[in-house]
Amino acid sequence: MGDGLTDSTAVTTARTDGPVADCVFCQIAAGAFGTPFVAESESAVAFRDLHPQAPTHVLVVPRRHLGGVRDLGLDDAPLAGELLALAVEVARREGVLESGYRVLTNDGPDAGQTVFHLHFHVLGGKPLRGGLD
Ligand code: AMP
Ligand code: ZN
Repeated sequence: MGDGLTDSTAVTTARTDGPVADCVFCQIAAGAFGTPFVAESESAVAFRDLHPQAPTHVLVVPRRHLGGVRDLGLDDAPLAGELLALAVEVARREGVLESGYRVLTNDGPDAGQTVFHLHFHVLGGKPLRGGLD
């Protein structure tokens, strides 16, 4: 092939280029509700969670609809990096970079995903519970 890529790049994904009807995060990212953004970048926005679980609870969301982290393909590496970099920028702006924070995403029923547009939670501003489940 000559491009250095392997067959793993052929993983199929359920992605779409436009906003998805009835997807609240597509609408928020498009500015439909005038939701203030804590931070934004070319391909992603960050806004406060409606039901905060910590003093800082911000969601980092790609402008483009992806159902969850499972829909990030290898060709989305720049977007994945941008999302994580924006999460760190949110932590910096919220003043929790030194005190510590958590970045997490839920994918699927066992993880408790309730909004099916990829998002990373950025949580901080208090000591967070230990454990990963
Ligand atoms: P998850 O359970 O990981 O899918 O997280 C979904 C998160 O989205 C929850 O923490 C909700 O509180 C939050 N949420 C749902 N609707 C909105 C909304 N309209 N604006 C901001 N946050 C929302
Ligand atoms: Zn969406």
